[in-house]
This record gives sequence, structure tokens and C-alpha cells, in this order.
Amino acid sequence: MNPDVRAIARQRGEPGFDEAVLATSFGEEDPGIRPHALVKARSADDVSQAVLWARDRNWRVACCSGGHAWSQNHIRDSGLLIDLSALDEIAIDPAGRSAVVGPGCISGDLDAALSPHGLFFPVAHAFTVGMGGFLLQGGFGWNSRMVGLGCDNVTGADVVLADGTLIHASRSQNEDVFWALRGSGTGFFGIVTKFYLALHERPGFTGIKMQVFRLKHLEKVIRWAHEIGPQISSQVEFQIVVNRKAFGIFSHGVEVVTPVFAESRAEAKELVAFIDKGPLRPAASLTLPLIGAPLGNIMKVAEKVIFPTGTRWHADNVWLDGPVEQVIPVLQETAANQPGAPSHILWLNWNPAPGTRDAMAFSIEARTYLALYGGLRGKKWQPSDRDWATKAAEALMLHSAGSQLADENLRRRPARVMSESNLARLETLRAKYDPARRFFSFGGN
Ligand SMILES: Cc1cc2nc3c(=O)[nH]c(=O)nc-3n(C[C@H](O)[C@H](O)[C@H](O)COP(=O)(O)OP(=O)(O)OC[C@H]3O[C@@H](n4cnc5c(N)ncnc54)[C@H](O)[C@@H]3O)c2cc1C
Repeated sequence: MNPDVRAIARQRGEPGFDEAVLATSFGEEDPGIRPHALVKARSADDVSQAVLWARDRNWRVACCSGGHAWSQNHIRDSGLLIDLSALDEIAIDPAGRSAVVGPGCISGDLDAALSPHGLFFPVAHAFTVGMGGFLLQGGFGWNSRMVGLGCDNVTGADVVLADGTLIHASRSQNEDVFWALRGSGTGFFGIVTKFYLALHERPGFTGIKMQVFRLKHLEKVIRWAHEIGPQISSQVEFQIVVNRKAFGIFSHGVEVVTPVFAESRAEAKELVAFIDKGPLRPAASLTLPLIGAPLGNIMKVAEKVIFPTGTRWHADNVWLDGPVEQVIPVLQETAANQPGAPSHILWLNWNPAPGTRDAMAFSIEARTYLALYGGLRGKKWQPSDRDWATKAAEALMLHSAGSQLADENLRRRPARVMSESNLARLETLRAKYDPARRFFSFGGN
């Protein structure tokens, strides 16, 4: 039965099995658990066969594409892990402004393939993030405030269901599966083997403007950012990053980082002029000029500097909608306790335009997104550093509308990741499409 799968499956206890499982993760943490077996799929048919092979053994199934989930949600203590990283095709139709990509295709490769055609997709901010997990959880990509989340730009998907069948889901076919796959992330009840994407015209200019403050100015910076956030153009990603080795001052500081997408350098300069003209400029240690660079270069550098390999990551997040006065003391305490670089706090001005999204599983967003990335490297970190992100997110829950699946930490801290009604609908669909719960779901489920 399913002889092809038997030939490519690696089983627990075999030499090299542990290494192969751990190699599927971007993060270096060893979660200390292992599936029964690992299959590296090379086609949609391999995926179907592997699901049936697991069903024959009464195993549950997990999958990974780029392996970038901070929580390493794909590594479970039993069942089958299907690695989709080899399904990395990219087929672009420039005339139709569309693309078909495999879930294992990585963000930087997709951007590089689109660039010569003058086309654009809101891929993830780091080069190596897999499109599979990124698109399913929502997908806060470059220029997403302007062109939408990754999942807003998904027009269809090929999906292997729990009975091994391969279906196509779109607005007009299997609409309920299409609804679910846009935003259910690790809670999705199928395996996507292809995504169909709508593309955009590539902005003529991409660049970054930065300003850096010492930590003592944190409160002032957050108050200012909170106040002006709603007026900032959607073409600007207005972010504040707190870390112990801030750019240029090499000490605990607050970086204002503003990527900008425009038709020209002159337009971009105008869009980020609020930083030069801002009331806090005299307090800044550094105000850099606007730097233009191809997006691919920005992604590579950002990943190397902000998310270096060889790091054990523990991340968490909240959508903030509480009064800024109440949030600031929690942020100050969180910064005071933060582990060394590359750990960082990300405050992101999101301010979504109300009522602009399709009906889909993705359903929670708020004025501000706050993510906590605990990055432990070498021997310097303390055991308590492992809990830093989780504890900070717990402390911020009072002021939160919920959490985002991009930086989920559900195995350690259960959180609300979609509206009650969407969660109820997702579970109804799961009962219909995956009644035996073949696929692992959120957190420990
Ligand atoms: C360095 C770094 C930078 C990041 N930057 C961003 C960013 O800019 N914006 C953003 O929104 N997020 C970002 N993230 C978060 C990232 O998008 C999510 O963790 C996403 O799930 C990663 O996708 P993946 O395929 O690489 O991960 P994986 O770990 O492979 O997948 C995560 C989960 O998604 C599910 N899944 C994956 N592929 C499939 C599939 N084909 N079919 C069904 N289920 C599947 C599985 O449940 C899996 O456990 C970043 C993460 C890292 C590590």
C-alpha cells in the first residue's frame, strides 16, 4: 500500500532522522519532541499518498513549507510530518498579472522573479520565509498597508484534503475551503500544494528612512507615533524597534524604521518628511537620510541583521487597542527586561481601513501591532529569557484585541486569533472536511 511513500519516508529511530526533522525549522530551538515519520514531498501526488499512508496508520498529519513558524508548530510528538519545501515552483503570467507558486517557494525568490517583469507581491519581510505558512496565516508583507495582506491577494489554491483528494478552491469553487485557507494558518484542515496569486505593479522606488533614540526617550517616541500613526500614508510602514544594540548607538535604544514605497524618490521623501519635521528630532541620536535600495537587498540585509541564523527564537504578539497611557508602562517594563540582541520589540502602525477585506477566516486586526521576538544566542542568555516574550504578551492582553497567527505562540499561550464567529465556522468546516481530525491544528490540538 502506497509503496512510493514508504520509499521516501524517514522514520523515527533511523540515523539522521532527528537532524532531518530539526533542519525543517528556521529557529535553532530543539522542541524535544519528534513525529513518527517525515516525508519530503516532491509533488501534490506525494502529498496525497502521504496523507493516506498516515491514515492507514491512524497517525495525525502536520506539514511545513518554509519552517519559519516561531512556535515550530509543525514538529509534534507523534504522527507524520510532510515537508513541502521542495514544492517551490514559481510560474508568472505577466500579461495576466498573476502567478502560481508552490508553498515551499520563499519570499525573496518570488520577489526576485517578479522584479524583471515590473511586478510586485506583498511577500514577507525576511528573504527566507516560506510562502505556504505566510499566505495561510494572513501575510503582513512589504507594502501590505497599501496592497493588502498576502491572503487578500490569493485568488485560489490547490488543496489536499484529509481523504487524500486534491481539490481547487477559489471564489467560485469550494468557496468554504477558500474562505478557510485565507487566515486560518496553523488551524487549516488541509494541505495547500499550489497558490494562485494576483500581482501588482512594482513601485518605482523602495527605500528606508531611520531615526534612532536612546531608550530613555521610549515614552515620548511611542506617544508621538501613536498620535501621528493614523495620518501616515499607507505607502509607509511606520515601525518602532526596541533592542539592546540599536543601530548606530550600539546600546539599548529605540529605532524608528520606515520603509516606503513610491513612484519616485521625490515622492518617497515627501511621504517620510514627518520624521525630519517631527517634534522629537532634537532628541534623536541619529536621523539618517532616506536610503533607496532594491527590495531584495533590503530583505537580505534585514534578515541577516534582525533575524540571524543560529538563534533560538521565542516570539509572541498582541494586537493593541488599549489606551496608550496604559500600554506605555508595560512596554517600558518589557524593554527593561528584554534579553540581548537580536531580541527585539516591534511596534507597528497598522491602522487598517475598515470594511476593506473580503469575508475570510482572517478577522482580527487593530490600530497597532506589537510583536516580541526573544532571540537567544550563544551562552549569554538566562533561562528566564525564554519566557520574556510570553510574559510580556500576557501583560499586554488587557489592552489587546487578540493575537496574530504570524507570530503565534499558541503552544505556550493560548490566545484569540480570529473572531468568535469565524472560529465557530472554521470548526464546522473542519468537522465536514476533516471529521477524524487527521490534521493537527492550532497549538497543542
Ligand atoms: C525571520 C522571519 C520573518 C518573518 N516575517 C514575517 C512578515 O514579514 N510578515 C508575516 O506575516 N509573517 C512573518 N513571519 C512569520 C511567518 O510568516 C509565519 O511563521 C509563517 O507561518 C511562516 O511560513 P513558513 O511556510 O515558512 O512556515 P512553516 O513553519 O513551514 O508553516 C507554519 C505552519 O503553517 C501551516 N502550513 C505551512 N504550509 C502549509 C501548507 N502548504 N498547507 C497547509 N498548512 C501549511 C502548518 O500548520 C505549519 O505548522 C516571519 C517569520 C520569520 C521566522
